Amino acid sequence: MQRIAMKTPLVEMDGDEMTRIIWQQIKDILLLPFVDLKTEYFDLGLEHRDATDDRVTVESAEATLRLGVAVKCATITPNAQRVEEYHLKKMWKSPNGTIRAILDGTVFRAPIVVDCIQPFVKSWKKPITIARHAYGDIYRDVETLVTGPAKADLVVIYADGRTETVRIHDFDGPGVVLGMHNLDGSIRNFARACFTYALSVRQDLWFGAKDTISKIYDHRFKDLFEEVFAAEFRARFEEAGISYFYTLIDDVVARVMRSEGGIVWACKNYDGDVMSDMVASACGSLAMMTSVLVSPDGKYEYEAAHGTVTRHYYRHLKGETTSTNPMATLFAWSGALRRRAELDGLPDLAAFADRLEKTSLDTVSSGVVTGDLASLCDLPSVKVVDTKGFLTAIHGRLAANA
Ligand code: NAP
Ligand code: MG
Repeated sequence: MQRIAMKTPLVEMDGDEMTRIIWQQIKDILLLPFVDLKTEYFDLGLEHRDATDDRVTVESAEATLRLGVAVKCATITPNAQRVEEYHLKKMWKSPNGTIRAILDGTVFRAPIVVDCIQPFVKSWKKPITIARHAYGDIYRDVETLVTGPAKADLVVIYADGRTETVRIHDFDGPGVVLGMHNLDGSIRNFARACFTYALSVRQDLWFGAKDTISKIYDHRFKDLFEEVFAAEFRARFEEAGISYFYTLIDDVVARVMRSEGGIVWACKNYDGDVMSDMVASACGSLAMMTSVLVSPDGKYEYEAAHGTVTRHYYRHLKGETTSTNPMATLFAWSGALRRRAELDGLPDLAAFADRLEKTSLDTVSSGVVTGDLASLCDLPSVKVVDTKGFLTAIHGRLAANA
């Protein structure tokens, strides 16, 4: 059989533990038989990050800036225990954090929807994508305990020496105080990433903040979104038949709960942290959640939302077969291939990405599932298979329809 050709390589970021094993199985069983796969390979496995003093992570992000589309396997973010386990030179930073800083991106997370797994929210028919701002607010705040009667001020000192002082509170006893910030540049880039993404998936964009209470801070988000929309996106949204809609965050939550889904929901940093866990749990499983990092100028890095599934890996090392769900990693590959196909004008490759996703969903709907989905599927009976068995079942269907 003739394999589908590619033009530009994908940036391939390999990773750790169980997901590293699944990575290779997906390539061997579902990609290489059908696609003449072109990638620039970077090994982000922890040993190689350590051996290269983490240069490999930076190089992979730089390659993404150059080539435009990357696919990433889950990676270990080392803690003290991992430093010991892998005899690391130091406690390397989170690869996702490093890549996000270089791409200056926004993270979009969406559940993979299958008809036999009903979301807990009955009205949701289509996936809800959460777009989380990945900079500032309480994640970069400074805080202190106030131990007794005190005055607390907010003081801004400008480069030319001017100062501006705002009284926070006259404390007549102990309490707490914090200072936090964000940047116009970061908020504008967040807005651009959200508008660009909504256009690419042709879905409405909703954004909520608390501008009625936070009349300067949250209002800034509202104003900058509106400014970027009016200047750069309004016409393109009209052309695509989609809309941008701002309302208070609590109103957005109420509307999302009653909606059909099929929207992109832009969230400030903390709101996105909380709401992405809410959407993921309401849809059943972290193993059915995709994640893509999009830079303001439209570079895409696709990955799974879950980690390296360490507990399954340790069982794998003991020689047991595991039934780890490869869907999110598989959808990272199909997402990246589709994006590459669109950029390079390769309709056969785009069609393959669509077919790969549909076939995977059909396999689940037919009742062939990994262990985590067994209790979530509302089918009369399911057949639980191991990871390889699941990928092989998808291969069988793909080859039959090729
Ligand atoms: P995890 O790898 O997401 O796994 C947590 C648990 O969720 C698993 O033990 C498993 O539950 C279930 N699970 C997750 N993915 C699954 C899948 N594909 N199929 C079936 N079950 C799945 O999180 P973790 O154990 O907290 O973290 C492990 C490592 O991943 C850490 O070193 C962390 O640094 C790293 N991490 C990386 C990323 C990333 O690269 N994006 C993100 C998060 C964490 P059961 O054991 O009950 O079956
Ligand atoms: Mg969270």
